[in-house]
Formats: sequence, structure tokens, C-alpha cells
Amino acid sequence: MAVSKVLVVGGGITGSVLSLALARRGVSVDLVEISPQWFGVGHGITVQGNALKALREVGVLDRVLEKAVPFNHMRLRQADGSLIVELATPHTGGDDLPSTTGALRSDLQDALCDAVYAAGVQVRLGLSVETFEQSPDHVDVVFTDGSTGRYDLVAGADGLKSHMRTLMGIETLPEPVGMSIFRVVADRPAEMDCAEVYYGGPRYKAGYSPISEDKCYAYLLDENLDASLIGPKAPLSLLRERGAGYGGIWGRILEALPEDTTVDYRWIEAVLVDAPWYRGRMILIGDAVHACPPLIAQGAAMCTEDAVVLAELVTGDGPVETALKDFMARRMPRVRTVLENSLQLAEWEIHPETPGADPGRIMQDTLTFLQAEA
Ligand SMILES: Cc1cc2nc3c(=O)[nH]c(=O)nc-3n(C[C@H](O)[C@H](O)[C@H](O)COP(=O)(O)OP(=O)(O)OC[C@H]3O[C@@H](n4cnc5c(N)ncnc54)[C@H](O)[C@@H]3O)c2cc1C
Repeated sequence: MAVSKVLVVGGGITGSVLSLALARRGVSVDLVEISPQWFGVGHGITVQGNALKALREVGVLDRVLEKAVPFNHMRLRQADGSLIVELATPHTGGDDLPSTTGALRSDLQDALCDAVYAAGVQVRLGLSVETFEQSPDHVDVVFTDGSTGRYDLVAGADGLKSHMRTLMGIETLPEPVGMSIFRVVADRPAEMDCAEVYYGGPRYKAGYSPISEDKCYAYLLDENLDASLIGPKAPLSLLRERGAGYGGIWGRILEALPEDTTVDYRWIEAVLVDAPWYRGRMILIGDAVHACPPLIAQGAAMCTEDAVVLAELVTGDGPVETALKDFMARRMPRVRTVLENSLQLAEWEIHPETPGADPGRIMQDTLTFLQAEA
């Protein structure tokens, strides 16, 4: 094997799946997570077929599907709730998996955390990398508590605001794409059986997805409002004001939200770091190097695919450098397509009057493209 001891930095979806994928291949894995408590924050996530396939490969699919809601179609609606079209969604993970599932992020992360501990990964919380020094054969790491470690490979999976990216001297930074999102978890109306999206209203878009038997996740895409609102405490009154004008199930969800509902608000940012994403024996994967507007809901899928492919390649017989080169060749075209199409979609949602704008088509085309092997 090219590597036998790996440090994973960051315990989000990417770092957790990478740790599992490596541990299942016999690699000794240390995972450091900066947060002193390790759990997924609330809100929903759309987990598409290719992400489900990666979760199956690391042995957590069944646990995730115990709570998540699978569906194979979506509906586009007018702002008043009237139906535009129902679309079958391509099975990006193969026909034996649902094309999509809605899940509560914390349910997904809990499943990953439990599996990581069960796989024997050494997890250290409240910790990060302070400095590192590379030689041709290994990386020596000093952690923020002063402890040290020697590894065959260090994988930074520390998200959009990646500290590892800075430590590795990569200057590319995420940029706002010009739209923002309000998100809430709400009671799931009985008639909600799949994700639905409302176009043509006063804002860019509204939508929802079922995420468990009794909960759903609803969102509103808007222009960038006051940045001081960013975080989990945006006023419900503001969401009600901005969301006025959408009817159907979305309007009813908004009306029924209790006053103490947590409303998360954030500007949407995107980043794509140029290849290669590695320097010597240090590599970045997941949102640390590619994050797209969540309009095709492929962010986590790209992250989980990165993790599974990296684990497969670095546990092969060739040298690490060849494995990392092969990784870039496999991942970049796929990730770039998702990012570029998500940005095009964002542009069309912001400027729907653009000649030729066709959000439904680009979404379907992207998912069809992703049916090919990762
Ligand atoms: C509004 C929104 C909605 C989205 N919806 C979807 C969706 O429906 N479907 C989908 O597939 N994708 C979606 N995405 C994208 C998806 O959430 C991300 O692609 C994915 O969660 C990124 O995972 P990650 O592990 O790479 O990064 P993160 O989730 O950011 O995890 C990084 C981890 O690293 C830790 N960390 C940070 N800094 C350090 C450090 N210095 N040292 C150690 N640890 C550190 C963090 O605490 C965190 O645990 C959405 C994104 C947004 C913003």
C-alpha cells in the first residue's frame, strides 16, 4: 500500500467518509476536528444517488436510510403553488439506489461519527494542525496542543474556510455568488412526498424537501441581504417578509412556523482551487477545494466521491505521487462540471430573463452526466 498511516483534518462529511474509507482498507487513521463537540448541525440535506453510493461503500448507507426519505422525482411549481412539471430524477448512484433522499444533517453526521469510532479511527476533538514539515517519505505534524505525529499522507478536509489551504500556501478563496439562503426545519405536511421548487416568485426561488417521517427542510433563495444577519439567528419575521408571495405547501409551511424556529441565513459562496490539490504528501479534498451553490444539491456528493476515490488510489501499489496525480485526473472534470453548471444555474436564477435560460434542463443534464462512474 502507498500509505499506512494517514492524518485527516476535519470531521465533516468529507473527513468522516475519508477516514472510514481508509480504515476499511487497513490504513491507520488519525482524525482531528477543531470543534470540541462532534455532531452535525440541524437543517436538511439532499443526498443524491452518487453520494448514497459512496455511503454504501463505507458501510453507513443502511443506517442513513433508516431515517432519511428516499424519492425518485421532483416537482417544479409556480410561485402560487400550481404545478409546472414533475420530473423523474436520474439515478446518479445506479438503479439499485434511490435517485435522491432528504435527510437531517445531524442524522447523517451521527451515522458517520458512530461508524468512524467503530472503525477504530483515533479521533481527537478541539484540535487542529499548527505546523508541518515534509520530507519525501512522510509529513511531520505539530498539533495545536503541542503534540506531534508522523504520517504517510495528510488530507485536509476542513471545509470552505479551510485553514489547511492557507497552511499549504494556496491563496484561492471562496467568493459570494450573489445569492443567499434562509433555511428552516419544519413539520412535514402529510402530502409532501419529494423535493419541490417554486420559481417565478418575488425572490430567486423557494423550495422544500422531506427529511424524515415527520420533518421537512424549507428554504428561500434571495439576494444578498445585510451580512450581519449571517448565522443561525436570523429573525423569523424577516423570512416571513421576504417569503411573502409564495403559496402552496411552501406558503403553508411558512405560516405554521412556531415563533422560536431557528432560521439559518447565509450568503452562498463558491470556490474551485486549480489543480493540483496536493503539495508533496499533503492533499485537500471536499469543500476546502471545491464548493458550489447548492442548486443541483451535489456538494456533499462531490465530497463523498473525493473521499472514496482518494482512499482507493492511495491504498494501491503505486507511489503516493502517482496516486495523487491519478486522483486529480479522475476528480477534476467531474467537479468542474458540477461547479460550472451550478454557477450557470445561479446566474439564470438571478437573471431568469436571460435568453435561453433553462434551469430544469441544466439540472437534468448535470445529473445525467454524473451517472458515469466517479
Ligand atoms: C446552504 C447550503 C446548502 C447545502 N445543501 C446541500 C445539499 O442539499 N446537498 C448536498 O449534497 N450538498 C449541500 N451543500 C454542500 C455540502 O453541505 C458541503 O459540500 C459539505 O457539507 C462539505 O463537507 P466538508 O466535510 O468538505 O466540509 P464541512 O462540512 O465544512 O466540514 C469541515 C469540518 O472541518 C472542521 N474544521 C474546520 N477547520 C478546521 C481546522 N482548522 N482543523 C480541524 N478541523 C477543522 C469543521 O469543524 C468541520 O467539522 C450545501 C451547502 C450549503 C452552504
